[in-house]
Amino acid sequence: MPHPARLAALQAIQQRRPLDCEPVEPLADIWASDVFTLTRMKNFLPKDVFKAVRRVIRDGGKLQLSVADVVAQAMKDWAVAEGAHYYAHVFYPLTNSTAEKHDGFIRPRGDGQAIHEFSGKLLVQGEPDGSSFPNGGIRSTFEARGYTAWDITSPAYLMRTANGVTLCIPTVFVSWTGEALDKKTPLLRSNAAMNRQAQRLLRLLGNENVAPVNSTCGAEQEYFLVDTQFAALRPDLLLAGRTLFGAPSPKGQQFDDHYFGAIPERVQVFMQDVEKQLYRLGIPAKTRHNEVAPGQFEIAPVHEAANVATDHQQLIMTVLRSTAKRHGFNCLLHEKPFAGINGSGKHVNWSVGNSTQGNLLDPGKTPHDNLQFLLFCAAVIRGVHCNGPLLRAVVATAGNDHRLGANEAPPAIISVYLGQQLEQVFQQIQRGESTDSTSGGLMRIGVDSLPEFPKDAGDRNRTSPFAFTGNRFEFRAVGSGQSVAGPLVAMNTVLADSLEWISDRLESEMGGGQTLEQAAASVLKLVMDLHGAAVFGGDGYSEAWHREATEERCLENLRNTAEALPVLQRAEVRELFQRQAVISPVELESRYEVYGEQYVLAIEVEARVALSMVRTQISPAVQNHLCNMAMSLQQQQSLGVQVEDRVVHQLADLHLRMDNHAEALEGELHQVHNGDTAASMNHCAGVLLPRLLQLRDAVDHLECLVDDDQWPLPSYREMLFVR
Ligand code: ADP
Ligand code: MG
Repeated sequence: MPHPARLAALQAIQQRRPLDCEPVEPLADIWASDVFTLTRMKNFLPKDVFKAVRRVIRDGGKLQLSVADVVAQAMKDWAVAEGAHYYAHVFYPLTNSTAEKHDGFIRPRGDGQAIHEFSGKLLVQGEPDGSSFPNGGIRSTFEARGYTAWDITSPAYLMRTANGVTLCIPTVFVSWTGEALDKKTPLLRSNAAMNRQAQRLLRLLGNENVAPVNSTCGAEQEYFLVDTQFAALRPDLLLAGRTLFGAPSPKGQQFDDHYFGAIPERVQVFMQDVEKQLYRLGIPAKTRHNEVAPGQFEIAPVHEAANVATDHQQLIMTVLRSTAKRHGFNCLLHEKPFAGINGSGKHVNWSVGNSTQGNLLDPGKTPHDNLQFLLFCAAVIRGVHCNGPLLRAVVATAGNDHRLGANEAPPAIISVYLGQQLEQVFQQIQRGESTDSTSGGLMRIGVDSLPEFPKDAGDRNRTSPFAFTGNRFEFRAVGSGQSVAGPLVAMNTVLADSLEWISDRLESEMGGGQTLEQAAASVLKLVMDLHGAAVFGGDGYSEAWHREATEERCLENLRNTAEALPVLQRAEVRELFQRQAVISPVELESRYEVYGEQYVLAIEVEARVALSMVRTQISPAVQNHLCNMAMSLQQQQSLGVQVEDRVVHQLADLHLRMDNHAEALEGELHQVHNGDTAASMNHCAGVLLPRLLQLRDAVDHLECLVDDDQWPLPSYREMLFVR
């Protein structure tokens, strides 16, 4: 018989039925119905105003206040008609979360009445009291206030909750002096940097008509669902987002029977509910399926412009969490909620392109397109090789440390996978082989026609952190709970920098009298000579690769956040972001501080939660059980029964071990490092986490020995399999 609390949870779960699912409305009726889309603007706005807005969205620039006034009026009328009473400037602080400041559309008049009001000024600029958002010291050295400003390239939308309807306006969040305090500002800047350099190269390649180049992103989100009845009994899940204790379930994921299996009905109804809300928000959720681990699922939208996709990704996380609650689930976005089974990642599919040249990472039909593709691809290879540590640093979080480098997620060593055929093409180029010289021109570099690169899942190398997948790259090391903004900023910026490098080389070769094709051939060869070490097609999990990568290829293996985050303080990283005008040195330093602080906080919380669980839940359970056993043994002895007290001693030993580790952890938790971020991070990685593991080891052994009716924490078996 399980512990009474667990028994009650189990019984409540047995009673659960899937929520009534409203009939599915036709997609056309609900698609983007809660978004102030361009089409809606066109209907609501005077022609000249609409054109002005569209111009700013397409070409950048500032919206005139007179135009903003008209837009604000129309937006408010639409929102109020939909039932909104409030509007919110939505921004993305450095915490991976979404923040909102709500205001009423209301202005009291002198005569005791009140009117609805929403001006252009209120639309384009807000002034949240953001002083409690982490800023890594920026605002104490400058000004206390933060400003939000409408990002016109990301449409406004309605958020419907039990508390009513709110008009949400996506914004950037900056300090009084213009420093970015958020994740959106650098993303917009990185896109602009990439656009500048991509345009330059495209023109060098002879394209006359070149539209603005945008990065695109499609992020696959993995998550776990655990019944709220169980989650409520697990302080670790509630406060730390992951289980700090838990013996392995007798059955885990070994059977691979969950992956792509039939989706349980309650989950299916939940997914439908999520998708319906996402469709109303204009978010193209497309793929859904079970993932590898029991209780694990995935949702993937179709790719969009990176900036919009990033806002949408944040919304997906919000909607997943809130909808799960309604269906009696806790949605876990932590990278490793359960030890011993697969964790969750967020594969960020990324490319760059425009309306005139199309997807620039898609090999084309003509030799010219192919050459263009190879140069952009080479820029990515060079970018990854020069900036592997940076790409590692932008996926460094306390949660992701449990994933990266383990045998389920990409290793912490950043390499790039091209697929067999593309790798061969680059090797040929490096060897200077030509396939046919008779027709001259591009034949010189053997790219007259590229093979079709398979886009199907069959050719994927699942062990690579950064893989070419036919027409895009997939950054697979991103954590499930992370904002995709940081990884996108890094990818756009390193691409911009490499494109600049390539254009410089091309120009100087051509200045020396070479043809474009000759110059391109030598630049491509140079990229492979200097940076081919980042290209790897083998098994990224293997020991041999770890050795080869670090010893022969000089790639860095930054094993955890404490090792990876200091990369943000390296001179070359500071210079890269400054050169491309994406993140200023002050902003970069503040990011290092904030992310470091968050890492430390996360682990300190884990330590405190673990201590309290051990002392108030686990230790009492063990003691009760010990007592019961001792009494029973005594009684048996008094009756003259031969007794075996081995288990009692084993229990007592484990209990002592647990207690000693808890004592030690408590002491180590109180060692302070006076605001020295690096020292605090090292303490967490080198002292607290190993101690937590030792403590866990003792507790998990105890779980296997203590009477089930004493053990207060829902087990892995229950949480993963009972639904
Ligand atoms: P898999 O699980 O096989 O990796 P999915 O179909 O789950 O593939 O996800 C693929 C993701 O890649 C989708 O979000 C898709 O829209 C996205 N994608 C496709 N083309 C591009 C592109 N050009 N740029 C960015 N993302 C893309
Ligand atoms: Mg996938």
